[in-house]
Parts: sequence; structure tokens; C-alpha cells
Amino acid sequence: MRTRAVHDVAVVGAGMVGAALALALAKDGFDVALVEPRPPAPWRESDEVDLRVVALAPSAIDLFRRLDVWTSIASARACAYRHMHVWDALAPGTLDFDANDLGAPNLGHIVENRLIQHVLWQALRDDARIALHCPASVAATESDERGRTLTLADGTLLAARLVVAADGAESALRRMLDITAQDRDYGQRAIVAHVATERPHENTAWQRFLPGSTLAFLPLADGRPLAAIPGLRGTWAPARRSSIVWSVPNTAAERLLTLDDATFCAELGAAFDFRLGLIGASTPRAVFPLRMRLAERYIAPRFALVGDAAHVVHPLAGQGVNLGLRDVSELCAALIEARAAKQDFASATVLRRYERRRRSDNALSAHAFDAIQRVFGSNAMPIAALRGFGLDVVNKLGPLKRAFALHAAGR
Ligand SMILES: Cc1cc2nc3c(=O)[nH]c(=O)nc-3n(C[C@H](O)[C@H](O)[C@H](O)COP(=O)(O)OP(=O)(O)OC[C@H]3O[C@@H](n4cnc5c(N)ncnc54)[C@H](O)[C@@H]3O)c2cc1C
Repeated sequence: MRTRAVHDVAVVGAGMVGAALALALAKDGFDVALVEPRPPAPWRESDEVDLRVVALAPSAIDLFRRLDVWTSIASARACAYRHMHVWDALAPGTLDFDANDLGAPNLGHIVENRLIQHVLWQALRDDARIALHCPASVAATESDERGRTLTLADGTLLAARLVVAADGAESALRRMLDITAQDRDYGQRAIVAHVATERPHENTAWQRFLPGSTLAFLPLADGRPLAAIPGLRGTWAPARRSSIVWSVPNTAAERLLTLDDATFCAELGAAFDFRLGLIGASTPRAVFPLRMRLAERYIAPRFALVGDAAHVVHPLAGQGVNLGLRDVSELCAALIEARAAKQDFASATVLRRYERRRRSDNALSAHAFDAIQRVFGSNAMPIAALRGFGLDVVNKLGPLKRAFALHAAGR
């Protein structure tokens, strides 16, 4: 057995959520250990825009500002979107959000996952309060009345007053703690690619509901001439690239993945109702299986779950990491409150406060996305008629629309 180090908090998993949590805790004066099996792939400006991007809500950007990482992210490569347009292939209703509805300069930013992780890791590597264990993974964990011990795969023992698992959807820690999760396989996969369109993206996040599938176009900031982008050929002007997330049933995904580029672009253009004109080119496509997974509990003695380890949601509303970053803010707030009141910050009372604040919000969001996915996935005519009616009603009722926009923004 190797040296036993004692920390305030040990965070397991340094994806976007775990890395943000470690940094937030360190900035608030906690002594942190961070365990991660592999460092993130490096990000360089000269690299092709990474296929994985997220739509960051204003609440996520507020957190990144507090962590002093937002300027680095925004100045590297991020695309602000000011509008959101949602429409349906089977019914006439539309739903439009504009940054003005929130009195904000934008509704959020589209950013590469790899860039976010790269900037967070640079910051956490510079922070003397964070002991980074990478590559490392957890083999076992035990708790006593003062804290929790982690045994790493190489035999190192880490002791902390609190352990937080941010180790993603397949969380090994969640299983070690016997925390069950409600699980629903959507029988769908998300096809992800970057595409060039004939007309500019108008800094708009577009979403179209089709029978059994949803298609999102998210604006990208790269602005590079197509000829300079490996895999993309054509003569259209820059600033016309979008990232697509096309959630389709498994069998349809298999077919779409086998299409050659020209046929894929033609089918994609038709599915998008040619809203941005023709689709000129696409990068290679990546695919992700889709499921909803909600942990039955977020806490155990001296233990808490955050991010995808606690909740996995359908990507149609682009909220997964935004919810995870709200977990980070609430957990930090609960720990700081307790420490300021000279309480044990890892006590069951404090952890329950965190669980109460986040579990219902995450479950509500997950079930709302699930319901939207079910209603809009249906071809049945009465439902199809209702859904157009629903979009129009929300669109016309100012306060309801504002409430939707505020919730999506995390306000
Ligand atoms: C197609 C698609 C589109 C999406 N679009 C959006 C969007 O627009 N907006 C949005 O908010 N969200 C979006 N999401 C969701 C978002 O990507 C996830 O919610 C987010 O990546 C979860 O981050 P995380 O840090 O919790 O987990 P992860 O990113 O999974 O990170 C987990 C980390 O834990 C590490 N780890 C794993 N096992 C162990 C272990 N045993 N011990 C230690 N460490 C371990 C991993 O190496 C990794 O670094 C999308 C998801 C998909 C599939």
C-alpha cells in the first residue's frame, strides 16, 4: 500500500463536469484530489473543429466565468447563438426564442467538448490545491464516520471527507455504492457530423421534429473557407458550417451511416426542409446510442453523484452538461454554506440539501425531454395535430414562452 493522503474532497472523473467541480472547490478553498483514467486529447486552434460540441446555457457560462476559464474558451472558438427556431414536419406550429426574450445578448454558445476540457485542465493543473491522479482509476471504496477511502488500481490509498463521482453515464462508483438507476433505452442513436450549408446559419439553433426522429443544426464559429477544411470540399463562403445532431431509430441510423456523402447530404437537406439551402458537404459521421438514466439516489455516506453519473437525458434539448454544471454549482453552494456555518460539510444533512435541490430538477428535465420525444416521435394524427397546436400556444403566450426560455438558460 502506498502513502495515504487526506483531502477535503476527492472527485472521481475529470470530464467537463468533474474538472469544473474540482476547480470550483479548489477556488473556494477546499483541498481536492482528482482521479481520472486518461488525460483529454489536446486542443489546438489549427485542428479541425471537434465533432463533439455542446450548446452551453447562460448558467454554464456564468459558472465558467466564476472559474476564470470563460475568456479562454470564448476567445479560442465559440459561436454565440441568438435565436432558436423549432418546427415540425407534421404540423404547422413553430416556436421561436430570441435573446431579446431574455433581455440577454445571446441564448448561449456552441463550444467543442475538447476545448472546454482542455481549458479546464490547464486551469486545474495550475492550481496547487488540486492533486491530480492521472492515469488512475478506483478499485474499491469504504466509508467510516470521518470520511471515505478510495483504493486506486495501483494500490494508492486516498482518504477524503467527501467523495464525488463524476465518472460519467457508466459510473463505476455508482455501482460500487449499489445505487440503482431508472434506465430507458430509446432504441435511437444520435448521428453527429459537421456540415456546410448553402446559406448562413444566422447564429440560430434550429430544431425540426420529424416522424420518429429529431434533427438539430447548431451554428459553428470556425468561419474557415471550405477548401481549407480536410474532408470538406466546395466553394461556398465561410461561416456556413453547422454541427448536426440527428436522433433516429437504430435501424434508420444503420442505414444513414452506410450512405455515401452525397446521398447523406441530400437526405439530410430534405429532412431539414432545405431551411439553409442545400447541404454541400459533411465530415465523417459519428454515432451515439441514446438512453435516459436517472440514479434513484444522489448520495450515500460521505458520497455524492454529479453529472452524467447521476442523470443521462435525451440530447434533443441540448441540456446534459448544463444540468451537470448546475449540480456543480449547487453542490459547491451547499458545502460552502455548511463550512461557513462551521458544520461538517460532508454530513448527511448537507448532502441531502444538495440532493433535494438537484434531483427533482434533473428528473423533471429528463421526463420533459422524454415526453417531448414521445409526443413528437408519434405519427398518430390526433397527436400530430396536438403537437403543432402546442408549439403555437407556447409561442403565442409570452409569459409561458419566457418561462421555457428561462428554464433552458438555467435561470
Ligand atoms: C449526441 C449528443 C449531443 C449532446 N449535446 C449536448 C448539448 O448540446 N448540450 C449539453 O449540455 N449536453 C449535451 N450532451 C450531453 C453531454 O455530452 C454530457 O452530458 C456530458 O458530456 C457529461 O459530462 P460528464 O463530465 O458528466 O461525463 P463524461 O463526459 O462522460 O466524463 C466522465 C469522465 O469520467 C472518467 N471516468 C470514467 N470511468 C472512470 C472511472 N472508473 N474512474 C475515474 N474516472 C472515470 C472518463 O474518462 C471521463 O473523463 C450531448 C450528448 C450526446 C450523446
